[in-house]
Amino acid sequence: MSVTMEKIVNLCKNRGIIFQGSEIYGGMGNTWDYGPVGVEIKNNIKKAWWKRFVQEDPSTYGVDAAILMNPRVWDASGHTQNFADPKMDCKSCKQRFRADNLIEDHSKGKVSAEAMSNEEMEKYISDNKINCPHCGNFNWTPIRQFKLMFETSRGTLDGEKDVVYLRPETCQGEYVNFLNIQRSMRAKVPFAIAQIGKSFRNEITPGNFIFRTIEFEQMELQKFCKEETSFDIYNEYKEKARKFLLDLNFSEDHLKFHDHDKLAFYAKAACDIFYLFPMGWSELNGIHHRSTHDLSRHQEFSGKSMLYLDPITNEKYIPTVIEYSIGADRLMLAVLTEAYTEEELEGGDTRIVLKLHPAIAPYKVAILPLQKNINEKAIELYNNLSKKFMCMYDEAGSIGKRYRRQDEIGVPFSVTVDFDTLEDNTVTIRDRDTMEQIRLPIDEVEKYIEEKIVF
Ligand code: ATP
Repeated sequence: MSVTMEKIVNLCKNRGIIFQGSEIYGGMGNTWDYGPVGVEIKNNIKKAWWKRFVQEDPSTYGVDAAILMNPRVWDASGHTQNFADPKMDCKSCKQRFRADNLIEDHSKGKVSAEAMSNEEMEKYISDNKINCPHCGNFNWTPIRQFKLMFETSRGTLDGEKDVVYLRPETCQGEYVNFLNIQRSMRAKVPFAIAQIGKSFRNEITPGNFIFRTIEFEQMELQKFCKEETSFDIYNEYKEKARKFLLDLNFSEDHLKFHDHDKLAFYAKAACDIFYLFPMGWSELNGIHHRSTHDLSRHQEFSGKSMLYLDPITNEKYIPTVIEYSIGADRLMLAVLTEAYTEEELEGGDTRIVLKLHPAIAPYKVAILPLQKNINEKAIELYNNLSKKFMCMYDEAGSIGKRYRRQDEIGVPFSVTVDFDTLEDNTVTIRDRDTMEQIRLPIDEVEKYIEEKIVF
């Protein structure tokens, strides 16, 4: 892949897509702020996901659960006891790494360390002589556990404050609402609960821009099903996940499915989809068969029965869970990587184009008056179209420069308003990718664009 992370980061910074968090104070490690262009792209990614997985599936119900949850939730999920990453420090250069990442990077994603014990990971690293990726030495500390949950407290009196956690994953918000949703929506198994929301992890080795951050958004769903149908549903979500990415214009060559051979003790199957990010193949999303583990644990810790009564067969059982989850920020990085293109133009110039699917482009159209004294007509068009979708208005600089600016942020169509427009009410529409131009009556522009931005 020719695009480097540096090129993406620079484009994001200079074109209002993503800035370093708290930049004027020297930043705050691995936090990022989405700018005016970035927030549109990310919102469109979330909308496309919600449309595909919630709106178009009558058996999926959305929720927006609280970030702060009763701490008992994290006892039930095992996070208070086990949610820690295996860290190793290089004694030579003092850099800190995750042992599982060292193994996965060294094996180029072929070996999954997810279910390995610390001893197994230490042995693998030693047997394969995995050196420090930073300084090249083999001088590791033993593995130590690094707590991943952010803690805060509630209560106003010192000494009487209770610890609460910023949620490290969104899915617990679905499990704790299983009974509420089943009852209030009269939902029948199999059904799913979906959510998009923020999660927080005190990651040891955040980095690679927005790939791994300490605060991020997850888009995920939990499908509650009967054990007998669970593997079909698991495979269905693998296929849905793939199709979603291909429909967003991902090339199949840049995706790899990795089935885990070692599983968590409760899991029956797990698959990660890897994407060829600028730094190499890395996890983009996961599909997991979690058996009845999650609801059983919540039944045990809350004392509330999670049994589902099948209205047809009268069977009672705790549903099995199939989880599909993807990070919105990680997908944003993948989308930017996939869309970033540099093209040689006639005359030797190069243009940067973000070839985003029109549905996730930040602005759907740019209105560009060719001369300043005809901008009234252009403003009128902007006012009409901006009632329907995000539009950009730009009257500064040569038309060539204005096209380049739109290309760089992925605006799929540019409309130029010229003197002929005043005479015959037609405008020129330019396509971002082909650079071809056609002439259209001004009142057909809205329909023309609307048809092209459907996802
Ligand atoms: P990783 O192994 O990369 O840390 P994970 O297996 O812990 O990821 P999950 O807990 O399964 O990830 O989370 C589901 C999805 O959420 C991931 O596939 C990824 O897209 C996203 N995600 C997880 N952690 C982060 C993070 N720190 N920053 C950004 N996105 C994340």
